[in-house]
Amino acid sequence: MSTKKTPRRGASRRGARGLPAWVSGAALAGTFLALVWLEHRRPLRKRVEPRAVHTARNLAVAGLSAAAIQLAERPLVEPLARLVARRRLGLVQRLPLPAWARTALAVLLLDYTLYLWHVLAHRVDWLWRFHQPHHADLDLDASTALRFHFGEMLASVPWRAAQVAAIGAGPVALSLWQTLVVVEILFHHSNVELPADVERRLGWLVVTPRMHGIHHSIVREEADSNWSNLLSVWDRLHGTLRLDVPQEEVTIGVAALRRPSDVTLPRVLEMPFAEQRDAWRLPDGSRPQR
Ligand SMILES: [Zn+2]
Repeated sequence: MSTKKTPRRGASRRGARGLPAWVSGAALAGTFLALVWLEHRRPLRKRVEPRAVHTARNLAVAGLSAAAIQLAERPLVEPLARLVARRRLGLVQRLPLPAWARTALAVLLLDYTLYLWHVLAHRVDWLWRFHQPHHADLDLDASTALRFHFGEMLASVPWRAAQVAAIGAGPVALSLWQTLVVVEILFHHSNVELPADVERRLGWLVVTPRMHGIHHSIVREEADSNWSNLLSVWDRLHGTLRLDVPQEEVTIGVAALRRPSDVTLPRVLEMPFAEQRDAWRLPDGSRPQR
């Protein structure tokens, strides 16, 4: 009996470890700093707000979000991923595949279900209240990638737990996907002008800055596209990919919240709880046209 148990315990110990925190932290910090440098060198869009004010505000919003993730998401989702791996729960754990293939499939499915979450964040009124502070940024850069309202982070905890449990994502798949998706989210929010042909090629695989810029448009028909987060394939499969809007014709933000006074730090934090305006109409009531 003990000879049977030992290898299983060994296997579960291996499965219990995700990527070391320093690897994820270094990837995040290194990507952020590299993008900030590139944004200085090759900006894609003209800035609306002074950079220092904008970055400080976004990092303050991000700090509260990080606290919400540490306090609410990690203590629930990480033990759940370990449990899923140990007990072989969820879809991929039941498939007769080698471990690397189970991990790869889990990463794909985590990314697909984040696409679905993003669609819900726009379609479900109370979720949009929490996603809107992210879109209300008048500029789009690497700091916007971190600017999610802490309420959106809290609201996404049950979804994240359901993703892990239903897919059967163990700690390796979860931490690998989280690291890749954060690096990608930093990249596609960044205000970096890549050569158009490089971006076109990259766009076959992952979400790119011009692609995601269209999703941040004040025009609803444009914002209702490009929901993918890591791989762009999900928008291709759903027919929701748009690449036909030149970046210089995109106005970034939420139509109803165009004044700098609408998007100060206190206004951003209270936004989900404040009286809601029709996000897709300008303050004069008209719909923005491109
Ligand atoms: Zn969005």
